[in-house]
Amino acid sequence: MSIERLNELKETLNKYNYQYYVLDKPTVTDQEYDTLMEELIRIEQAHPEWLTSDSPSQRVGGQVLEGFKKITHRVGMMSLGDIFNEDEVYEFNQRINNTLVNNDYVCELKLDGLSVSLVYDQGILQYAATRGDGTVGEDITHNVKTIRSIPLQIDYLDHLEVRGEIIMPKKSFERLNKERQIAGESLFANCRNAAAGSVRQLDSSIAAKRGLDAYLYHLPITDNLPVTTQEECLEFMRSLGFKINPYIQICHSIEEVCSYIDEAGKIRADLPYDIDGVVIKVNDLKKQGRLGFTAKVPKWAIAYKFPAEEVITRLKDIIFTVGRTGQITPNAVLNPVRVAGSTVQRATLHNEDNIIKKDIRIGDDVVVRKAGDVIPEVVRSLIERRTGNERPFEMITVCPMCGQPLSKKANEAAYYCLNDNCNSKNIERIIHFASRDAMNIDGLGDKIVEQLYNLGFIKEIEDLYHIADHELEIMAIEGFGRKSMDNLINSIENSKKNSLERLLFGLGIKGIGSKMADVLSKEFHTLDALLEADYQTLIKIKDVGDTIALSLSQYKRDPKNQKLIAHLKDLGVNMTYLKSETIHQSIFTNKTVVVTGTLQLFTRKEIKDYLTSQGANVTGSVSQKTDYVIAGENPGSKYDKARALGITILDEETFKKEVQL
Ligand code: NAD
Repeated sequence: MSIERLNELKETLNKYNYQYYVLDKPTVTDQEYDTLMEELIRIEQAHPEWLTSDSPSQRVGGQVLEGFKKITHRVGMMSLGDIFNEDEVYEFNQRINNTLVNNDYVCELKLDGLSVSLVYDQGILQYAATRGDGTVGEDITHNVKTIRSIPLQIDYLDHLEVRGEIIMPKKSFERLNKERQIAGESLFANCRNAAAGSVRQLDSSIAAKRGLDAYLYHLPITDNLPVTTQEECLEFMRSLGFKINPYIQICHSIEEVCSYIDEAGKIRADLPYDIDGVVIKVNDLKKQGRLGFTAKVPKWAIAYKFPAEEVITRLKDIIFTVGRTGQITPNAVLNPVRVAGSTVQRATLHNEDNIIKKDIRIGDDVVVRKAGDVIPEVVRSLIERRTGNERPFEMITVCPMCGQPLSKKANEAAYYCLNDNCNSKNIERIIHFASRDAMNIDGLGDKIVEQLYNLGFIKEIEDLYHIADHELEIMAIEGFGRKSMDNLINSIENSKKNSLERLLFGLGIKGIGSKMADVLSKEFHTLDALLEADYQTLIKIKDVGDTIALSLSQYKRDPKNQKLIAHLKDLGVNMTYLKSETIHQSIFTNKTVVVTGTLQLFTRKEIKDYLTSQGANVTGSVSQKTDYVIAGENPGSKYDKARALGITILDEETFKKEVQL
């Protein structure tokens, strides 16, 4: 965090602003821009003495193009503060609640176009202006008049300013880029840039052909208007003939806001225009007035931006990990980047062939993807950004952990470390055994397994069940108190009762993932029966192919594995399928559950995902139909309502115990 870095960021962001707002030709993605902006804000927050009023964090990004008449806005046109995840939605709500009580929000889609101000007098459109730098915008009346959905005349005679977004529908955008491609012209990066580029033309015949559209969403001056809320503003504009987006929702709680965001994410791909998030606004105009503005954004509204599923970042290095089967995986070490809602610093490169085929080099800017819960992966390199300093990839020949030469199996792209005593393989095996989808041993995370392994307390899976023998020694390790030791011993003990499919998955037999473990356990009911099954019996089972049948017979022939299973059996580890009685049947199955308040132990998503996996219906508001409320800190009105209705309320600790997460 140096002043040099701060100045560098300011300079870079100003350059990107110019390319984006003035030239309508961004050279970096919004995600790259947002990441740099966040870094700038972090530095400025840590060093308020370095903050200057010309910083890009303090100013609306645009500028007025030469050739356009300038228009000074009566009321400044602001940007919006942005947030990127549900926790930040709750923080925003908390900030609002520090000033207001009983607040309602209006949620709107965040249309990805450019904002426009329309000024009417005597019922006639006088002029239309871009946001510009927020104070002064460009006169784009000639182009705006070509947009059919914008009325040139309205049934309101006083002075009126209406603001909204000019957008280019996806269909118009595709058509435009196709025409440009045929004509050999440069393509627009996205609908927003195409809309901005079309509106900021001196010749209005160009904009007229581009199929633009506009939604209106804001009245900056409402003193003499019959409105008291944003909802009424929208209704008023609609009554005058302005186009209002249909996906508007009044939300009485922040949970309803979160549901709206979820819904918006789901319909996004099917909308005929681009949106890049959701705008959350305080509904009551008086309350908006009490909250006010910062230099750049209103405090009564915020933009939730959808997480990007594909992002760009720098690949700093390639390192190798050894999996539990000895498989060597090359992994990208990345400049930290947020993708699909979480920060990523490592991504898989799968194997040598993949890297060579895609010509991925160290130092490249790469596209990283993470769809859903999938492990982040490097999709491709941006070859056009190469400087010549990138280093081609070289595969290693010996195990990075034990130094033994690696070998490659026929028909497989991966290299393997075949050393049975390779520490890395052993550690990974134990980590896998204890992991959530396997034996689900709480308190035994990756780092702790590694620590206990390196200190010699666990060398094999079965050693876990003897951990109590080393209780005092382990408690001498920093950070390991009586309580965490007891918890660990308990959860290890509890894991003995797991149903077979967890154990089967935990054994880490090649090709047997958690789904296959489920299939096999359901079919054979006991581990003994499964291991006795011959090849012919196995391949008759739906979903079981050659690879799995062979892998199983290979596994059971290995004396080391036979010894492990016998040992686990002696220790009392359950080897029977219990799923029909236990799994999927929790107290939440088929129940309606509300989650409220500030959570400490889980994220809201973790709880929701878990509840949904148990067949629960997670809703936003408490009613007679609610069966459980899970309440974090400062739960507010929902908690009171749940109490009044006599609904069972669980705090996070109780929830955690109940579900053993
Ligand atoms: P923004 O686009 O993130 O949000 C503010 C804008 O949202 C408003 O001005 C308005 O036009 C629009 N909006 C859409 N629907 C709305 C609704 N229902 N209610 C209210 N407003 C609505 O902010 P910005 O200042 O216009 O742009 C900043 C963003 O632009 C950055 O976060 C970045 O993602 C992108 N950017 C990218 C580059 C680049 O080089 N790639 C450069 C500069 C900016």
